[in-house]
Amino acid sequence: MSVWAILVAAGRGERLGLDRPKAFAKLGDEPLLAEPLRRLDASPWVDAIVLVAPSGWEEPAILLAEEEGCDKVRACVTGGETRSDSVRAGLAEVPAEALVVLVHDAARPLLSDDVVERVLAPLSEGWDGVVPGLPVGDTLKRAGSDGDVQETVSRDGLWAVQTPQAFTAEALRRAQEEGAEATDCAGLVEAAGGRVKIVEGDPRLLKVTSPADLETVAAWR
Ligand code: C5P
Repeated sequence: MSVWAILVAAGRGERLGLDRPKAFAKLGDEPLLAEPLRRLDASPWVDAIVLVAPSGWEEPAILLAEEEGCDKVRACVTGGETRSDSVRAGLAEVPAEALVVLVHDAARPLLSDDVVERVLAPLSEGWDGVVPGLPVGDTLKRAGSDGDVQETVSRDGLWAVQTPQAFTAEALRRAQEEGAEATDCAGLVEAAGGRVKIVEGDPRLLKVTSPADLETVAAWR
């Protein structure tokens, strides 16, 4: 099966408080984007990559891919206002003959081949989408805006979901066309009636949102 990866890197990353988008924040001495891009490119499971760059940062993104020798990168497109818009822009570059699309957040640099393998495997058993997740370990409470606890929510069957998320290309395209809004691609596929499975994720797939996360990821590398 031909597997196309869409690496979404077009977020602004305002919580990092930098003068540049999150994908170009420094992880050690290189842009954050370098690590996930290199790992995807080196993965034996991935045939081709579409890079979704922040507006105005397309050229540095292409240069970085060239410098890193990432020869699976087939296109670099400008992202959109929301993550869903960015995925849509990336998907438009995936050719009709692609069977599987893997969507990954550049903000989760520490991608492993094991996770990629785990999310791809169930697609051949008839699932429309597969996502990595970690069972929720903390007690969950719902609270009002001033912190008043309203209820304790059962964490039974609850998972914190990560990327990379794998889909049959057909299911993801169909879900995109229906145009629902969701915080991840699997949410779109679910809304379109698709069957989505959760497999074991990886704590190292931490999503970088704060400067402290950058330090954690740099230490785990
Ligand atoms: O904003 P957040 O951290 O949830 O973004 C998750 C991933 O989606 C990041 O890799 C970010 O670059 C990407 N993204 C995007 N386009 C947007 C918003 C987020 O490509 N408009």
